[in-house]
Amino acid sequence: MREAIPFVSQGGAAAAQAWIEALRAAMPEERIVDFAELDEAEWAQCRLAIVANPDPAELKRLPRLEWVHSVWAGVERLVEDLGGSGLQLTRLVDPQLAATMAEAVLAWTLYLHREMPLYAQRQRARLWQSEDYVRPEQRTVGILGLGALGEAAAQALLQARFKVCGWSRSPRELAGVRTFSGEQGLAQMLAMSDILVCLLPLTADTRHLLDARRLAMLPPRAQLVNFARGAIIDDQALRAALDEGALRHAVLDVFAVEPLPADNWQWTHPDVTVLPHCSAPTNRETASAIVAGNIRQYRQSGEIPANVDIRRGY
Ligand code: NAP
Repeated sequence: MREAIPFVSQGGAAAAQAWIEALRAAMPEERIVDFAELDEAEWAQCRLAIVANPDPAELKRLPRLEWVHSVWAGVERLVEDLGGSGLQLTRLVDPQLAATMAEAVLAWTLYLHREMPLYAQRQRARLWQSEDYVRPEQRTVGILGLGALGEAAAQALLQARFKVCGWSRSPRELAGVRTFSGEQGLAQMLAMSDILVCLLPLTADTRHLLDARRLAMLPPRAQLVNFARGAIIDDQALRAALDEGALRHAVLDVFAVEPLPADNWQWTHPDVTVLPHCSAPTNRETASAIVAGNIRQYRQSGEIPANVDIRRGY
């Protein structure tokens, strides 16, 4: 009999059970079992684990483990926990997730583009006052990160007729998108981004990337959307830029600490929209089908389809 594949998570029993059911439905030929339901003899056989925010101590109890497949797209915790372990790491790359994120980027870009925060404030003040209309062609949206999610977001914004530019670590070419890389490229892109959308992974290089100096490179009254990870932005620098009016509005879906503590300033700042990490939830069914495809490929070829470079951090 094939060795079991443990599902290792800290997300609670109900979520684990829902994942296990979806994974079993996607690959009935495999034995997917909750980590806690296997005994030591079975742990000793496991070469692969499927994880959702796992306790690294549990992974250490699997002596033959070679491959960790996450059901999330963001793997900064895993990279931190597994660095130096020699394990191969696969993260979720799911077209459904990219489509959901592209929809969120378009929705919240339009929210800023069509001045919804401003009109909501004016309604509260019973103020009947309109702004001149700005066409999307007159607005540049800069995307930090042109990976699976950034690229899908760029396509959605182009279809809505925005001017789109993007920044990545290695130089990228994308039809219709002005692309930049490197420190100088970042400065150039920030200077032209009326709306800046963050879709970078959190790594040693991107932690506090958006600090006071870089936020000051944005055009006056620029707006910001962070759908990536909270720690990419220096919160105090963001608060100062909003208080000074240098930045006009920030839509924040992710925070350094989640859930966002009740006394954090973002909850009540008039120029911040707080979202509860909801921009692109993983779809269990499509994600399980992607994981199943990767595992079948591994069973056939013996090669682990790892797509995370632990040294690079993503
Ligand atoms: P990805 O495919 O790995 O793409 C990452 C992009 O960022 C790539 O273009 C990469 O450049 C670029 N990048 C990485 N480090 C960089 C650096 N130091 N300087 C410049 N560019 C850099 O990742 P993804 O699937 O698009 O996901 C991005 C992030 O979204 C995830 O890591 C996760 O944190 C977040 N996320 C959030 C939600 C939510 O609900 N809020 C949902 C899913 C994911 P190269 O092209 O050169 O590699």
